[in-house]
Amino acid sequence: MGFNESALSFEKVTFSYGNSPVLSDVNFSVPGGEFLVIIGPNGGGKTTLLKLALGLLAPDKGKISIFGKNPGEDPTTAGYVPQDAGLSRDFPITALEVVLQGRIGGAGGGWRYGKKDREAAYDALESMGMAHAANRTMGLLSQGQRQRVLIARSIASAPRLLMLDEPLASIDAESRDSLMAWLAGLKGKMTVVMVSHDMSVISGHATAVACVNRRVFYHGSAEILPEMVETAYGSCPVELIAHGIPHRVLAVHDHEHGEEAHIHD
Ligand code: ADP
Repeated sequence: MGFNESALSFEKVTFSYGNSPVLSDVNFSVPGGEFLVIIGPNGGGKTTLLKLALGLLAPDKGKISIFGKNPGEDPTTAGYVPQDAGLSRDFPITALEVVLQGRIGGAGGGWRYGKKDREAAYDALESMGMAHAANRTMGLLSQGQRQRVLIARSIASAPRLLMLDEPLASIDAESRDSLMAWLAGLKGKMTVVMVSHDMSVISGHATAVACVNRRVFYHGSAEILPEMVETAYGSCPVELIAHGIPHRVLAVHDHEHGEEAHIHD
């Protein structure tokens, strides 16, 4: 698979919900094959950025491309795992039916799923260790299992770009570890863009980091510099430190912005 082209690019993108500006003058390009982790404060515009990339929202100004196409032009290009894995809790729909939703657009334009779609959906469930639960309703599954089904849905059309919005936020440690191992296995096969507050993900897996706080600061390396965190979070991120920033990802730049100033304990 050639990774020479740009997987996702934003050029001079500005977006507001009504009169509230959320993102302004956003410029960055994600090379194919990247494992990009997006960090930033709550309300900074991370989810909005993903929705723009998917074509669920349209920019006020600027241009967004996914593998050279407009967002949403080919729904099979990008897979999306939304933030709230609890979404389908009370909805009487089976895991397989959820995953089949990921075949819309890849199903030849019709509303009826064919044998190929069912096979692809089963395969996606199987790759997430959930084939045994294909016919169970979502409400009977644990949060971690529901999330695995949503991930299966996102990959059911074999996308070239996978976007995940805080997939580690609400799952237990065991599910988290197996999810990270699975994501790590995607390297070299898919471009991954993932919103996460979990700094260990950055040190362990990311090849690039973007800080989103109305503006986007793209860093083509997985090293977190103190000023990146400051720019992204506005102040010293005690909350992040509580989640455990591995010290080795905090590079010391100079005395003023030294490591000591940012590590509280
Ligand atoms: P993040 O994902 O970084 O927490 P979001 O992209 O969800 O940030 O939100 C960015 C800003 O846009 C926030 O101030 C949020 O309140 C606002 N916002 C998000 N969705 C909507 C919406 N549908 N309508 C109006 N404002 C919204």
